[in-house]
Amino acid sequence: MLEKVRNGVLGTNGVLGRVGRGILDVVFPVRCVGCGEEGHYICRRCEGFTSEAALICPLCQQSSLTGERHENCRSLYGLEGLASVWEYEGVVKSLLHNIKYNGMTHAIAETVQSAYISMAGDTMRFKTFLSYLFSKDTCITYVPMFKRKEKFRGFNQATVFAREMGKVVKREAVSLLEKIVDTKPQVDLTKEERLQNLKGAFQVKFEIPASPAGRRIPKNVVLVDDVWTTGATMKECCKVLKKSGIQQVWGFTVARTP
Ligand SMILES: [Zn+2]
Ligand SMILES: [Zn+2]
Repeated sequence: MLEKVRNGVLGTNGVLGRVGRGILDVVFPVRCVGCGEEGHYICRRCEGFTSEAALICPLCQQSSLTGERHENCRSLYGLEGLASVWEYEGVVKSLLHNIKYNGMTHAIAETVQSAYISMAGDTMRFKTFLSYLFSKDTCITYVPMFKRKEKFRGFNQATVFAREMGKVVKREAVSLLEKIVDTKPQVDLTKEERLQNLKGAFQVKFEIPASPAGRRIPKNVVLVDDVWTTGATMKECCKVLKKSGIQQVWGFTVARTP
């Protein structure tokens, strides 16, 4: 209930702005999803129980120190790398679940900031992704939802995650893809069925703000989503982007299924 109230007033765009949010924090304080302590969505103590996700090659899903795909795992339309911050379990799982299903979208800004702080503090693992993210040739986009489903839910969490990621690098997230098929939920499907289920489900939009030289296709993309499970969705989106002229795609997810 509290989440509905907070979200109704704040929405994903913060209707009341900073002042309103300040008042709301007094009336309905932010609480840790793990223990209920006031102040943060994941408090210091509960943060200690989160597990960092080991980085993997997005093609073979085996360990890769920096998240780059292995030299031998070449694929014409495959991802160049994958950066995931935490394992999808415990408080991280509760937080992402609350964001997606209970409309706790106002927690996304803090979640992305924590994810960024975590990556910036671990340059050995994340330096390749971060230098790619901050490169002027990279634009940030997200995994789209089928329009009717997004309308029903009221938001696409991936859009909000990408927008907050954009604030970190001082660049606006852009909408490059749309989902044109209302696919079956992936949850009950096998890995192969998941890929099959998504075939033809996405197409590019390329509504890039026009530059003086006219419409321009971005060179490199960071594709944002909340969770990487089998990677079927990201792989399909990546394929569609690359077939349309994008050169490199890295995936970014807040969490990855261990
Ligand atoms: Zn806590
Ligand atoms: Zn590999």
